[in-house]
Amino acid sequence: MDYEVLLYYKYTTIEDPESFAKEHLEFCQKLGLKGRILVAKEGINGTVSGLKKATLAYQQAMQNDERFKDIVFKVDEAKEHAFKKMFVRPRQEIVSLKLAEDLNPNDLTGDYLSPMAFKEALLDENTVVIDARNDYEYDLGHFRGAIRPEIRNFRELPQWILEHKEEFMEKRVVTYCTGGIRCEKFSGWLVKEGFKDVGQLQGGIATYGKDPAVRGELWDGKMYVFDERVSVEINQVDKQVVGRDYFDGTPCERYINCSNPECNRRILASEENEAKHLGACSEACKNHPRNRYVKNS
Ligand SMILES: [Zn+2]
Repeated sequence: MDYEVLLYYKYTTIEDPESFAKEHLEFCQKLGLKGRILVAKEGINGTVSGLKKATLAYQQAMQNDERFKDIVFKVDEAKEHAFKKMFVRPRQEIVSLKLAEDLNPNDLTGDYLSPMAFKEALLDENTVVIDARNDYEYDLGHFRGAIRPEIRNFRELPQWILEHKEEFMEKRVVTYCTGGIRCEKFSGWLVKEGFKDVGQLQGGIATYGKDPAVRGELWDGKMYVFDERVSVEINQVDKQVVGRDYFDGTPCERYINCSNPECNRRILASEENEAKHLGACSEACKNHPRNRYVKNS
């Protein structure tokens, strides 16, 4: 294990994201890092991999910068790089939520819950725990009893909440996501919408899995990650498989993208079922003229 994967974000002011991105890319390349970093006026959101010497140098350089001095890095050991290339991209938001009225999580956000406090919330009958990720992430793994909003993408979550407001309004609402960043704005938005008791899992699932007190307990399945590893283990106590094959419902933790390039939907499927259905999520996708599976086999 000579490599490390870093996951981090920070809401802070970056005056000129365009030129910051250029300089930061050069800096990362000099260190030999690979990964994907988004920068915006509101902050930075990144995940990079590299030799331990390089990831250490990167963390030190960031912590020495006044803007990022209290940034928290989640660190995973790895055998190799988790990315093929290095990107640093300027964006409007560091996580795309596209609220009608944007908000700054440094001014408004839900209460931060430690892994232990979050675990207690999971067991509390008067608390609703909402998964603030995409549907395919939930399907591979999630907290036991957490609500799976009927959405494809995280961006659709506020609308879905508005449609179900009455079910949750009188309860304590707690949210979680991979590393914590998606909950920052989303939980702030819940507070703004009038939810009275809103919490978020500090440091996300990644932190919960490493916490020595909870050791990932009450997490089922694996956690989806946005790099070459695709998924990682979280529960160190009593791991169960919850992923189900899209086609026949048998236990499955293998991802494919729908073979219709215009659909690209992420689903779980065995190699056998993938072949049987030509890698497609539907009849229409199966018969699509640009079906990749047909072309490549
Ligand atoms: Zn499809």
